[in-house]
Amino acid sequence: MPELPEVEVTRRSFADRIQLARIADLRMGKPLRWPLGVDPLSLVGRRVVGVRRRGKYLLLDLDEGLLLLHLGMSGSLNFAPVQSAAGPHDHMDLVTDKGVLRLHDPRRFGAVVWAPSDGSTQAQKLLGHLGVEPLDGGFEVNAFALALKKRQSAIKQVLLAGDIVVGVGNIYASEALFMAGIRPTTKASRLSKPRVARLHAAIVQVLTRAVQQGGSTLKDFVSAEGRTGYFQLEAAVYGRAGEPCRVCATPIRSLLQGQRTTFYCPTCQKP
Ligand code: ZN
Repeated sequence: MPELPEVEVTRRSFADRIQLARIADLRMGKPLRWPLGVDPLSLVGRRVVGVRRRGKYLLLDLDEGLLLLHLGMSGSLNFAPVQSAAGPHDHMDLVTDKGVLRLHDPRRFGAVVWAPSDGSTQAQKLLGHLGVEPLDGGFEVNAFALALKKRQSAIKQVLLAGDIVVGVGNIYASEALFMAGIRPTTKASRLSKPRVARLHAAIVQVLTRAVQQGGSTLKDFVSAEGRTGYFQLEAAVYGRAGEPCRVCATPIRSLLQGQRTTFYCPTCQKP
């Protein structure tokens, strides 16, 4: 599943190139997770003024309104001067005078939704519950500690929920908790201030590095330039059950938390 770093890498791969492009057509394929919410023809003639990211949404700002794009479980975007004929898994072609932005999404959990503004009901329905961005100044350690104090669930579940801080998905939660020496099952409210500070630093570090390296190598993830990331090649715990911990050689364990697999080192990560 594309996580925050992959979405950010995707954004950077086409944001500059699509800027000021004029929309000539918007062709939608099979139904995605949510309907577009507007007649595609009404967007013809609009200009793309920029591409922002909020959580795992890409926000294509138009000179009037915006498009919110989500890659779902298996989506990828490709922006190219020309595209081949749309295949069975290509569900959006945003045709502009600078190229065609194509959404390829075999599982169709992705979405393309139009909204009149950030503050509109349409946009807030998708963005309103999101926590702070981990990679800008809004992610502050004291506020993070205060928010965690109020949560009785396991720290990994709290991170995955995304309502305190966005973008710490399954891979990055496992990796950041390893880096911070925290067992994923530890109750969030029980974490001491120094441990929260270590976790805060680990989240920033693991996500920053993943963005720098081009996102993680997940089955379907390819940035809009067609480049594959390689973060997973050097994961400390994710996907390594039974293999020796890179720090202490104890076999890495896995467990299920809320139907997602968590990986941890029973020696390096304390409850
Ligand atoms: Zn270890």
